[in-house]
Amino acid sequence: MRLVLLGPPGVGKGTQATRLGAHFGVPHISTGEMFREALSQKTPLGLAAKKYMDAGKLVPDDVTIGLVRERLGRPDSSRGFVLDGFPRNLVQARALEDVLRDVGTRLDAAVSIEAGEETVVRRLSGRRQCRQCGAVYHVEFNPPPEPGKCPVCGGALYQRDDDREETVRERLRVYAVETEPVIEFYRRKGMLVAVDGERDIDEVTASIISALKEGNAVEESVPDGDM
Ligand code: ADP
Ligand code: AMP
Repeated sequence: MRLVLLGPPGVGKGTQATRLGAHFGVPHISTGEMFREALSQKTPLGLAAKKYMDAGKLVPDDVTIGLVRERLGRPDSSRGFVLDGFPRNLVQARALEDVLRDVGTRLDAAVSIEAGEETVVRRLSGRRQCRQCGAVYHVEFNPPPEPGKCPVCGGALYQRDDDREETVRERLRVYAVETEPVIEFYRRKGMLVAVDGERDIDEVTASIISALKEGNAVEESVPDGDM
């Protein structure tokens, strides 16, 4: 299964990508997470990405595309992947096609998770993430059993800097201008699967899996993955 997840910041891409990755037995690849990890280790990549992330802007394409090319070239991506947060503009969408062509494969589907602005702003403002393992919670919609503490690894939960109101506004603007055209790109290719992201987490997961089955993406991926 080779999927990309599309949708505005906070709609639930990371949440669903984790679940879909586990369901299909493929890695969840998040460019945002790769940048955050690089930043926490203070690598040159992380430090270079920081100023764009803090401002709610996209990290330059050459950096991001290089990162994804390297990641998709690793052995664990050969059986499939769920890409979350990439592609974020048309240059990246075309680059992804090139990368996949170079390794002799293609996407099975692009899943667009849809929700209104009010919903995504509420989700972003209550999002909490584990500093240690990266697991994502929500103070209201997916609360950890013990406030501030990750039930998976015991790490401390924190609020992302870019989930502050001012940055959120800019991220939504960038999404509308740069990322929304990517949805149309996949629609024209007949690869788009749109799901209602307003529903609760389990319902969204179920509707993605059933939409992929209806579109035959699940069946198609089985012989592919066994090769
Ligand atoms: P994205 O990766 O698209 O930015 P996340 O997966 O990090 O979004 O989700 C944003 C926040 O919303 C998180 O706090 C998450 O727990 C919560 N969330 C995700 N999906 C849902 C949902 N269907 N209903 C309610 N809250 C959700
Ligand atoms: P995310 O975790 O997907 O919300 O991404 C957090 C931030 O990382 C974004 O606001 C961007 O600054 C940067 N980022 C993540 N993915 C990309 C991408 N594909 N292209 C450019 N910047 C990205």
